[in-house]
Amino acid sequence: MDALAIGFLAATGLVAGDASEIAVERLGSRTKFDRPWWRCASCGSAAQGAGLVPVWRCIQLSKRCSACGSPAAHPWRPLVLAVVCACVLGAFAARLGDDVALAPFALLGIALVAISAVDFERFLIPNRIVYPTMALVAPLLVVSSAVDHRWGSLARAAIAAAAAFAGFLAVHVAVPRGMGYGDVRLAGLVGLCTGWLGLGHAFVAFLAAFVLGAVIGIVVMIVTGGGRKTRIAFGPFLAAGAVLSVLWGGPLAQALFHRGG
Ligand SMILES: [Zn+2]
Repeated sequence: MDALAIGFLAATGLVAGDASEIAVERLGSRTKFDRPWWRCASCGSAAQGAGLVPVWRCIQLSKRCSACGSPAAHPWRPLVLAVVCACVLGAFAARLGDDVALAPFALLGIALVAISAVDFERFLIPNRIVYPTMALVAPLLVVSSAVDHRWGSLARAAIAAAAAFAGFLAVHVAVPRGMGYGDVRLAGLVGLCTGWLGLGHAFVAFLAAFVLGAVIGIVVMIVTGGGRKTRIAFGPFLAAGAVLSVLWGGPLAQALFHRGG
């Protein structure tokens, strides 16, 4: 895939990530998805002028509200979402190339970034992102399978989604405090998408999520001194595992299963 297309996807990610701030802010603060989309968190007055320009608004948001003078609650969050989303979509484009499947994976990337942000801040994996993503990604994967007759991919996607959902559900039932039901649903989505690329990809996604979660969890426990009561959101690790799997799932699965063979 040429640099222009990768740049286009990265730019799409930049704008989509910036816009996802609306969902992250509303879901995090448990408020309605109402207008004005961009507003002061204190007085609710609508953003104006440069405050409405994607990405550039971060510089505006970092200033004080022109109506009530209160500082922005999360001045840099839209920029962080935009940059991470741009990197993920650009990398997906470089990895998947000129493929219809780029559409569902781009949607997955945007959703994973937003879900991670909400879960990181609030320990909550929002159904209002997971369900619409599932509803869009599943038919797009069917279309991608139909275009190139990759029905085997679709079957593997269904198997991985069901296996991931069942596996996480078992953990949730056994240790409800350790694994929320939101993680179970997100695991189903991650299983579906990575499974479409291959069962090895799905395995890599979940292995990476657990390894990253364990390593970073231990580091956080040591740094904060919180011991085993330390609460860590698992959503961002599932998201990171999924992104790693899309980018390098093939060679990683190869290295895991065919060592020396
Ligand atoms: Zn204000």
